[in-house]
Amino acid sequence: MIYADNAATTRMSEAAINTMVSVMKETYGNPSSLYSIGQRAKEVLEQSREDIAGVINADVREIYFTSGGSEADNQAIRSAAEIGRKKGKLHIISSAFEHHAVLHTLEKLKKEGFEVTLLDVHSDGLIRPEEVRNAIREDTCLVTIMYANNEIGTIQPIREIGAICREKNVLFHTDAVQAVAHLPIDVKADNIDLLSASAHKFHGPKGVGFLYARKGILLSNIIEGGAQERGKRAGTENVPGIAAMAAALKEAAEKLPENAAYITRLRDRLIDGISKIPHCALNGDPVHRLPGNVSFCFEGIEGESLLLLLDDRGIQASSGSACTSGSLDPSHVLLAIGRVHDVAHGSLRLTIDESLTESDIDEIVKNVAEVVNYLRGFSPIWRDLVSGKKQFIL
Ligand SMILES: *Cc1c(COP(=O)(O)O)cnc(C)c1O
Repeated sequence: MIYADNAATTRMSEAAINTMVSVMKETYGNPSSLYSIGQRAKEVLEQSREDIAGVINADVREIYFTSGGSEADNQAIRSAAEIGRKKGKLHIISSAFEHHAVLHTLEKLKKEGFEVTLLDVHSDGLIRPEEVRNAIREDTCLVTIMYANNEIGTIQPIREIGAICREKNVLFHTDAVQAVAHLPIDVKADNIDLLSASAHKFHGPKGVGFLYARKGILLSNIIEGGAQERGKRAGTENVPGIAAMAAALKEAAEKLPENAAYITRLRDRLIDGISKIPHCALNGDPVHRLPGNVSFCFEGIEGESLLLLLDDRGIQASSGSACTSGSLDPSHVLLAIGRVHDVAHGSLRLTIDESLTESDIDEIVKNVAEVVNYLRGFSPIWRDLVSGKKQFIL
């Protein structure tokens, strides 16, 4: 089996599993309890917070634990909106290809009186900082732009966008779920006010993540209850999950330069191999791109059939994001970069990690080429393209 869907989720690292099991067995106290096993759980919690803060150059008091990336996105955006509302600023800027955790929160805020500008994404999958500047108004309270896209892997000019927001005195949130542990991130140098991350995207467990909020930014609660997380996120902390997240992140941060270089080499080998298939195209910029992301569109193909046949051959891939698989609409990300419906339907996303080898990559290329060829053999759209009834786009 070749697992190539690491943007959907990752396999937990040994370090994360061992930490999780050990905390479950030994440190099962409630961190809010005053007796020793509770206090030991509290120490595990605070050590994890310190380790995580260190990796992104934040202060330990700027890290809030959540149930994952979606919750962190919701809380970050709602908090900034609430701060804006108090000042009479009801305008938010984002982009058309954000994750649904961001887009759906913005949709709700629209119903609550906010105005949202979604910036166009260019065909290279990148946002231009100058367009962010031009969109900022007197009443803008928040800019929220993802660090790296989960479908096409493009890395946005976050530092430049952050600098513009600082200059204009507008809060800047970034959904960094695909970037944390995969790219070096420094929240201070990158001018980030709010950042979301999720453990299961970097070999940690599912159902746990964190929100970084720069000192002085008042968070609004999404979950009400006890006084955990300095009163900003109620509920008994997921201590084993949080400790495992910290273990996974620390390990990933230590190995980042080495892993990123290795995975980038595999990625480019995969891109070169697949590019030889006729009438296909890489989605997103080839350079400003996550080390592990490969995303293609093929003409005359259904992405779903492609991924099911690849699964039969032991290769796990995706036709878009896991969140929209199962729906027949083409990906909003591929439409945002200008792919037409027919072409967007023929998408394949392969997201690789450091456990793969060059021979795995060659195996993927061989199988993708064979399956694409096979599927085109009985595709009516492909027949129309070949006979000239329809024009090739790619
Ligand atoms: C996976 C993902 C999320 C959601 O994170 P969960 O922890 O699964 O809630 C949000 N944004 C991006 C970009 C993602 O890839």
